[in-house]
Amino acid sequence: MKVLITGGAGYIGSHCSRFFNEKGIETLILDDLSEGHKEAVQGSFIQGNVGDGNLLDQIFRSHAIEAVIHFAAFTSVGESVKNPSKYFQNNVTNMLTLLNAAVDHHIRYAVFSSSAAVFGEPCTIPISETHPKDPINPYGETKLIGEMMLRDYERAYGLHSCSFRYFNAAGDAGDALIGESHSPETHLIPIVIQAAMGKRPPMKVFGNDYDTRDGSCIRDYVHVEDLAEAHYLGLSYIMEKQCTDSFNLGSETGFTVLEIIKTFEELSGLKVPFEIVGRRAGDPAVLVAGNEKAEKLLHWVPRKSDLKTILTDAWHWEQKRKF
Ligand code: UDP
Repeated sequence: MKVLITGGAGYIGSHCSRFFNEKGIETLILDDLSEGHKEAVQGSFIQGNVGDGNLLDQIFRSHAIEAVIHFAAFTSVGESVKNPSKYFQNNVTNMLTLLNAAVDHHIRYAVFSSSAAVFGEPCTIPISETHPKDPINPYGETKLIGEMMLRDYERAYGLHSCSFRYFNAAGDAGDALIGESHSPETHLIPIVIQAAMGKRPPMKVFGNDYDTRDGSCIRDYVHVEDLAEAHYLGLSYIMEKQCTDSFNLGSETGFTVLEIIKTFEELSGLKVPFEIVGRRAGDPAVLVAGNEKAEKLLHWVPRKSDLKTILTDAWHWEQKRKF
């Protein structure tokens, strides 16, 4: 079996592609390398944009693709507030072009990289799939629109799909051959490690006046290799059941920013230099996933999503990284 992975040169896409390859599934990566890395590509590679309908036609005509795994998207909440046009263009319009090409070429399965941002400010913790979807920024809105397009495309055109709402993807491949590499890096765990290693100035903790156990924000960190496995299980599920569904993926455990810093200090023996600054706009105090549905229907178990494994793998990657 062969799948098309859009954004497969990116962080989650590259780990997913590697997992599929290990399961004997061939992957064709489509990535314009605007944010991804050629070195991260696992599988065959075409450089191009997911909004290029002619290229998609050519790809679907010349490869026996059975499913599309769609990661290619912009993911920065702050940027989406400043420049919503960029986000609606790429995350919605280009996704529509992809879905239309897939349907035209009789592709029957899609797996979509959605986000916990579709929920907005949580009303209940942990957040289950039935929680109201009320995104508070354009990024979350684009992901919710993606899910809605998929739901309608199943009804109208029989495209079965699975949407995954990731909580905080973290960690790296255990052998450090691929890993997280954003420019600029905005995510907490790489920033903590880079600050401890002296690769960047002291880090900033965004707020210590939240209503949490130590005043800093609580997030649910899920290992990227667990996410990769979920995509495989999700694709198998929709192929077997001929259905469309969405799932939350997290670890069901929340850690504060200060706990992440302290745990890394204990694990590495390094000191993390930091200062407390004001809150970052748009940050909810607490985000923790409920995984019951993914466990029950996909038999997904987040095996590597304990904080020590995540931090150990991320530290290993930071020491060895080639890109
Ligand atoms: N955070 C922080 N300092 C940083 C980066 C992040 O205090 O330099 C906090 C951020 O406010 C949030 C948590 O760490 O509470 C996780 O942020 P990240 O950007 O990694 O993921 P997000 O939750 O925004 O998807």
